[in-house]
Amino acid sequence: PVSTGHLPGPDVVNSLLETAHARFAPVTDGAVADYIPALACASPSLFGLCVVDVDGSVYRAGDTGHEFSIQSVAKPFVFALVAQVIGVDEARRQLGVNNSGLAFNSVLAIELNADRTANPMVNAGAIATTSLVPGSDAAARWAFIHEGLSRFAGHSLALDEEVYASESATNLRNRGIAQLLDGYGRMYSDPVEATDLYTRTCSLLITVEDLAVMSATLADGGVNPVTGEQVVDPLVCKRTLAVLATAGLYERSGEWLYDVGLPAKSGVSGAIMTVAPGKGGLATFSPPLDEAGNSVRGRLAAQFLSDALGLNIFASV
Ligand code: GLN
Repeated sequence: PVSTGHLPGPDVVNSLLETAHARFAPVTDGAVADYIPALACASPSLFGLCVVDVDGSVYRAGDTGHEFSIQSVAKPFVFALVAQVIGVDEARRQLGVNNSGLAFNSVLAIELNADRTANPMVNAGAIATTSLVPGSDAAARWAFIHEGLSRFAGHSLALDEEVYASESATNLRNRGIAQLLDGYGRMYSDPVEATDLYTRTCSLLITVEDLAVMSATLADGGVNPVTGEQVVDPLVCKRTLAVLATAGLYERSGEWLYDVGLPAKSGVSGAIMTVAPGKGGLATFSPPLDEAGNSVRGRLAAQFLSDALGLNIFASV
């Protein structure tokens, strides 16, 4: 196919999205997350896919209008916004960038690393990242996160109050992780407040189309291809994608890169965002997860589309 933009042309992308939807909708493997009570009621049949080209074209299939909480897919955006302020080298020094090889909520990720950093894509590193958010008080720091993620999406994001209340009431483990980090001097502001801001960030509502725009912004050197706004610098974007390639799928990051060949980030509500640098962003939403907390249909769709659209960064032809 002859490419008009940065991805193959519209007919090709539309038909491949339809094919992916039809092929993987019947898959019933995996289970909806229930450790956050409010997530347990998500319908396992929901399945939406969206691609946004860096030229701003938007392609959709399935349940693209359904809203869900962003969960861990927020992590790279908060990291990028913080790295933009403190610099990419300082971000590496204070947060770490190696894959722990462990689950997203692991405490050993901290204990086993000599300098007690994790990486910003697991809960420990993400809560530490949140503790670096600038602002004179909690309200100002929340505004920084909320406005920043909204710029990536291209409009002001709403909060899922039910998910926020549900996770706040049950996030003892994340509170423990923050205290442990604080004990090692790896929290950079109040751990209780940072954990609350982190939990609120995870509860921001997006659609799969919002997420594809956010993904395309990372694919486009930090420029939102729909609004035209430069949200973060190209250098920050490049470093963020490197961390995603290393750790975006937690302990399955190696298998993901082996199969899909693209930086990506998953979250427990069932979203996966996949970034094709210089080309565009793919987002999928389907709540049933594998044991590592990654959407089963999302992973299958990303693998299929990476190959079919010619996006794998390790492919020579
Ligand atoms: N809010 C969730 C948590 O901290 C996010 C985890 C995830 O999406 N993997 O447990």
